[in-house]
Amino acid sequence: TLAVECIAAPDAALVPRVPGLDDTLFRSDGTMTKQEVRAATLAKLMPMRGALLWDIGSGSGSVGIEWMRAARYARAIGIEPRADRRAMAAENALALGTPRLELVDGEAPAALEGLDAPDAIFIGGGLSPEVFEACWSALRPLGRLVANAVTLESEAELVALHARHGGQLARIAVHRAEPVGRLTGWRPFMPVTQWSLVK
Ligand code: SAH
Repeated sequence: TLAVECIAAPDAALVPRVPGLDDTLFRSDGTMTKQEVRAATLAKLMPMRGALLWDIGSGSGSVGIEWMRAARYARAIGIEPRADRRAMAAENALALGTPRLELVDGEAPAALEGLDAPDAIFIGGGLSPEVFEACWSALRPLGRLVANAVTLESEAELVALHARHGGQLARIAVHRAEPVGRLTGWRPFMPVTQWSLVK
């Protein structure tokens, strides 16, 4: 008889290349794009071999890191004005096998000048008509742009941009089951409005 023994370490985790990694695999300060929304966002961004992503408002770096993991030679540049969040992103990138994630200290649109032209752009913070115009003109043909909003003010920007430029608007509301005393209830996250379009 052949006995196969498998002993999993207590902290073992599956870390696939398909986007939508567990939130606990990233260090974050709570503003991170959650797993379900991240997976839907990466699907729209369409990672491809050797392609470049601008991750504007990169925060913990989760979107850029998942972009780089999903396709060989994929590159990502995170633009993030907060030093503490850039440090988290660098740490997450190292831990998740994408140490080449580039991080730029600055704010869009000024910080976008001179960067290599991207194949896809994610706007997770700092959206304005000026940021959109700078992104849209830099984006390469067939490039994908995705912008997520959680506040009414940034959602209003997305609705106005959608009216002018088309694309798709989606609202993603995630609830996760969590303990309520000894029972279980749905804990809602803030709904995310997502605008996506292809150049
Ligand atoms: N996708 C990120 C979420 C970050 S929250 C993650 O998964 O962690 C939005 C971020 O946008 C914040 O960190 C904020 O500092 C940044 N931000 C705000 N205005 C910006 C601008 N004009 N340019 C670049 N980043 C900006």
